[in-house]
Amino acid sequence: MKKIYIDPGHGGTDPGAVAYGLKEKNLTLTIAKYIRDYLKGYNCSVKMSRTGDKTLSLSQRTNDANKWGADFFLSVHINAGRGTGYEDYIYIKLSNQSKAGQVRAIIHNEVVKVLSRYKLVNRGKKKANFHVLRETKMPAVLTENLFIDRREDAALLKNTEFLQEIAEAQARGIVKAFGLRKVSPRKKGTTSSKKTKPSTQDKKPSKYTGDSIVDYLKSIGQPSTFSHRKKLAQQYGIKNYTGTVRQNIRLLNALRDGKVTTTTTGKYTPRTFKVGQKVRIKSSAKKYSRSTVTIPEKYKQKPYTIQQVGKDDLLLKELYSWVKKEDTY
Ligand SMILES: [Zn+2]
Repeated sequence: MKKIYIDPGHGGTDPGAVAYGLKEKNLTLTIAKYIRDYLKGYNCSVKMSRTGDKTLSLSQRTNDANKWGADFFLSVHINAGRGTGYEDYIYIKLSNQSKAGQVRAIIHNEVVKVLSRYKLVNRGKKKANFHVLRETKMPAVLTENLFIDRREDAALLKNTEFLQEIAEAQARGIVKAFGLRKVSPRKKGTTSSKKTKPSTQDKKPSKYTGDSIVDYLKSIGQPSTFSHRKKLAQQYGIKNYTGTVRQNIRLLNALRDGKVTTTTTGKYTPRTFKVGQKVRIKSSAKKYSRSTVTIPEKYKQKPYTIQQVGKDDLLLKELYSWVKKEDTY
């Protein structure tokens, strides 16, 4: 099993870069934990240099990874110095054809998709003589995730949805680079299935009648991840699947009927929304409206202030995130 070592930069008495009320050490830990959580769904073991606000020297980090025998080392940082955007590094003496260079290219590719969605600057693939890149015995990459001292970047760094997206892009890169396989989630009380690749062929009759694609897939024993839904969407002729409400309803109907349909459910009754008004997120809500990230349970059923009103969604002030109108009450 591949061993993936995730190193959230700084920590403890070393806050890293600080600006706009943000500390690099906290952001790197948040991103690293999202990466770890994503990788938990794959056949690899993950170790972090720290999982809390702990002081660690650079040598402690690289020694720990070397001793553990990691197959890959990823160090997560936030940039500073009046620039903007994302960049990543491999050790200065390595070529782009080295293993580190190859893995970095794949991670970079995944991150670029997020950058373009948020219209962020790609500062490119770089090389440097950083301790964590030089002293690690395994391929190592260091990512610099936006500039903490740039107002626009800082605003995104306050957005947990964005942090999750940029983290999961890096995790997806690792999954692709190392060919990691998804592990089937164990269901309590049932014997685990031997199938590793669920397909639309092995259909289980579903008793689920709601309009959530995620819950429907769970009810038929299939993964509800974005990548699996995208695969299914392709099979059912839904082009350019990005996980919009409309596409999810089409996919749900297609799965239920075995064919593609363009009808949408008319369940949602429009309400009026005003800036400053308070709304809560329904417990049935799945994803934020402008990304493929799942809304954490802890954010649901709590009051938030509408900061901006979109056509079908609302910007919630306290979350810095867009949520579908129909997912609020
Ligand atoms: Zn740093």
